[in-house]
Amino acid sequence: MAKKAFLIDVDRCNGCHNCQIACKDEHVENEWLPYAKPQPDTGQFWCKVEEEVCGRTPHVRVRYLPTQCNHCDEAPCMKNCDALYKRDDGLVILDPEKSKGKKEIVDSCPYGAIYWNDELEIPQKCTGCAHLLDDGWAVPRCVDACCTGALRFGEEEEFAEELKNAVVLQPELGTSPRVYYLNMPKRFVAATVVDIDEDEVVEGAEVILQRASDGEVVLSSHTDEFGDVWLENVEPESYTMWLKKEGYLDQPVEVDLTKKDQAFPELQFFKAPERA
Ligand code: SF4
Ligand code: SF4
Repeated sequence: MAKKAFLIDVDRCNGCHNCQIACKDEHVENEWLPYAKPQPDTGQFWCKVEEEVCGRTPHVRVRYLPTQCNHCDEAPCMKNCDALYKRDDGLVILDPEKSKGKKEIVDSCPYGAIYWNDELEIPQKCTGCAHLLDDGWAVPRCVDACCTGALRFGEEEEFAEELKNAVVLQPELGTSPRVYYLNMPKRFVAATVVDIDEDEVVEGAEVILQRASDGEVVLSSHTDEFGDVWLENVEPESYTMWLKKEGYLDQPVEVDLTKKDQAFPELQFFKAPERA
């Protein structure tokens, strides 16, 4: 049987949460044996849209990341545990009968994709809607509910070209996930460049991003009529951002993007002294 995969295009996700709601609609108060017992209406998100607000007002971006069980090929949760198994299509199933009382299974997933159900005393997670696929559905409910095309599900071969540019979450874990991501955002630096003496924004200043480790210029742009500049999709490293414009002193600004995006709401730019 052909192996299936999820392909998530982060660029297309608008944070509508339809996928998360569809998962609830499918699994809350519904029992889909042998794959799942009912998902509680609160506390569990087998399909979860994570939201991250990046930057600083007025330079803010909101990012959405749909997450779920990765249906890993080298799944740590399956090691030494007979309550989990892999289907021929690649989906990892957590057997609700065999796992009863085994709370330790929750900690076996490094992605936090397994939840504990206090009432039923079982660990639970995304089933990939295996019951629907068995019934002839082509995709799980979350994918079916996604109107933007951000979520897709299909045979891995069908996605072969796009998978060349895809990444998985936390590849360093070596779990070989079957959930792939396209267009994962990198970092940005943004600024409003101002001339305090003139009490004005500076339009048309050249802004150059130079990598600290080797001095290579990775990106450049110019401030717009509002004095704003965005340098986006850069690697999480340290940089020197240079401001340049005729009549002004070349100005270096240290930018650390290793842990988060950076925004400068009011970056002062100083005029060059006039020649005598
Ligand atoms: Fe994003 Fe699609 Fe989920 Fe909406 S349904 S949050 S667009 S993945
Ligand atoms: Fe197991 Fe977690 Fe991988 Fe899902 S994401 S297969 S629960 S290790």
